[in-house]
Amino acid sequence: VSETIFSKIVRKEIPATILFEDDVALAFRDIHPQAPVHFLVIPKEPIPSLDDMAEDHKGLVGHLQWVVRQVARQQGLSEGGYRVVTNIGVDGGQSVPHLHYHVLGGRHLAWPPG
Ligand code: 5GP
Repeated sequence: VSETIFSKIVRKEIPATILFEDDVALAFRDIHPQAPVHFLVIPKEPIPSLDDMAEDHKGLVGHLQWVVRQVARQQGLSEGGYRVVTNIGVDGGQSVPHLHYHVLGGRHLAWPPG
C-alpha cells in the first residue's frame, strides 16, 4: 500500500485547509493553487491513481465525484463553471501517487492543457 503526503493529511499529521471530510473522502485546498479556487478531493484509502481502481471502487469513485460537486457548489463555482482533472502517471503529470481530483475555478481556464 502506497504512502504519500496525502496519507499524512488524512491522518492530520500535517496541516491542510480541509473543506469537507467524511468516512471515506477528504477535500482540501491545493498548497500551490493554479486558480482562485483550487482544491483536491481524495479517497482516504491510498489508491495510487484512477488507473489503479478496482471494480469494487466504483461506488467510492462515484462518491468522490459527488463530493467534488458538493464542495464546488459550496465554493461558489457552479454559476461560472469549473474544471475537474485527475492526472495519471508520468505522461499525465501526476506528482503525488494517491488518487486525487483537482477542482479548479474562479477564472476562465484555457483548453487544451499543455
Ligand atoms: P498532481 O501533480 O499529482 O496531479 O497533483 C498534486 C497536487 O498536490 C499539486 O497540485 C500540489 O500542489 C498538491 N500538493 C502537494 N503537496 C501538498 C501538500 O502538502 N498539501 C497540499 N494542500 N497540497 C499539496
